[in-house]
Amino acid sequence: MAKKGDMLYAWTNDADIKKHAELGGAVTALWKHALDSKVVDAVLVVKKGTDLYDAQPALITKSADLKDTAGSLHCGTLLLAKLIHKFLDGAEHMKLGVTVKGCDMMGMYELAKRKQINLDNVIMIGVNCGGSVSPVTARKMIADKFGVDPDKVHKEEIDKGQFIIEYEGGHKGISVDELEEQGYGRRTNCRRCKLKIPRQADLACGNWGVIGDKAGKATFIEVCSEKGANLVSGAIKAGLLATEAANPKGLEIRAKVENAMMKLGDKWRQKDFAGLGEGKDRLKKIMAETSRCIKCYSCISACPICYCVDCTTKNPAYVTPGQLPPNFMFHLIRFAHIADSCVNCGQCQELCPAEIPNALFMHAQQVELEKMFGHTPGISMELPLLALVEEKEERARLANTGSDMIYENVFNPVAKK
Ligand code: FAD
Ligand code: SF4
Ligand code: SF4
Ligand code: SF4
Ligand code: SF4
Repeated sequence: MAKKGDMLYAWTNDADIKKHAELGGAVTALWKHALDSKVVDAVLVVKKGTDLYDAQPALITKSADLKDTAGSLHCGTLLLAKLIHKFLDGAEHMKLGVTVKGCDMMGMYELAKRKQINLDNVIMIGVNCGGSVSPVTARKMIADKFGVDPDKVHKEEIDKGQFIIEYEGGHKGISVDELEEQGYGRRTNCRRCKLKIPRQADLACGNWGVIGDKAGKATFIEVCSEKGANLVSGAIKAGLLATEAANPKGLEIRAKVENAMMKLGDKWRQKDFAGLGEGKDRLKKIMAETSRCIKCYSCISACPICYCVDCTTKNPAYVTPGQLPPNFMFHLIRFAHIADSCVNCGQCQELCPAEIPNALFMHAQQVELEKMFGHTPGISMELPLLALVEEKEERARLANTGSDMIYENVFNPVAKK
């Protein structure tokens, strides 16, 4: 039986899942077991839409529908946490399984600590993540750098530092470093991301560390919680999953790769943040870039930290209605409210029609705050800096005091008076 802390190679015995899976099909087999045994009512996963570059969320309630959701979509830049909050009542009324990348998982924690997602009702299977590529960039990169019609590509993967495509008539790989030097490759927030193995999920699955005869055929599973251990044990008992202890050499390799990815993340942080300048220069740069804003609210709507019913950016006292671009206060409000909790998921940048590097600005600020106060968002239920997370009480405080500060001043805590 599996237990917390186990490091396993795992593969499914289900031929149909095996055919569609990225590696050993462990993730999909585990979801099949969870649905069939009614451990969950539904699973939220990502599946291919009209083409490889179109990742769509799918809520699956019948295990027969799972096979279409197996496989990794590296152009899948969705954030599932916000969808659970928006469309599934934060899993308050259902037992939900969800496949999460690091950023999905961090978004889950940020919403859970604000009582917008009920993690008691959620099982998270994490997938290691080296990064994802924006669909528009992927199409352009494949046409320009690979010289291949993006519509002729039937498979893409990122393996051993290369972005690899399979297309009608062949396959080709180009080093991700080389692509990124030329402005292609992973999203910029992914380059800075240091959450590569999502250990705060119940299981962390991936291919790093799978060596020998199991390479490419098994999924590496790190068992991160009792919930995760029970799920693995149940799937083994049901005959859906086979496992063996991970090769110790494989463990070493996995740790080395993770370490190298951390260093790469640091390198990109240094480069990207240095490009913003410091102090007044940074402010000027942010003001210049955000002057393109068309106030479409996509950044707010997609951000896992923004969930307020009455968003302060809609308060005419701060942001003049009908004015474009909005006055800078629109952006300052977001910085003030969420910079301590930004999980660098990239959504506010990915979905900005004005191509404003919002995630870069917010992440740069988050990292400064982390250095100052030691709070790392997205990895635990630790409350964010200065933030009051009890929304009802906070709204009552706002009404009672006439204050419009979403953050309580710790030096003068009005709410507790
Ligand atoms: P399967 O049984 O094939 O199931 C895959 C699951 O992933 C399904 O539930 C599917 O819906 C979900 N999924 C697919 N695309 C996405 C997406 N974009 N966002 C959220 N969920 C998705 N492993 C590593 O060890 N190193 C890496 O660098 C690495 N990078 C990855 C990058 C991305 C963008 C993704 C999605 C995965 C990455 N993985 C990486 C994990 C690896 O590709 C496999 O997903 C994992 O090993 C599980 O394999 P499996 O055969 O058990 O999964
Ligand atoms: Fe993966 Fe991190 Fe990018 Fe999310 S932000 S897609 S976890 S690399
Ligand atoms: Fe402005 Fe971009 Fe946000 Fe839209 S997504 S409100 S354009 S910053
Ligand atoms: Fe993600 Fe942007 Fe919100 Fe940060 S500010 S959590 S990058 S959407
Ligand atoms: Fe986000 Fe602040 Fe608006 Fe709430 S009030 S949705 S935290 S910008």
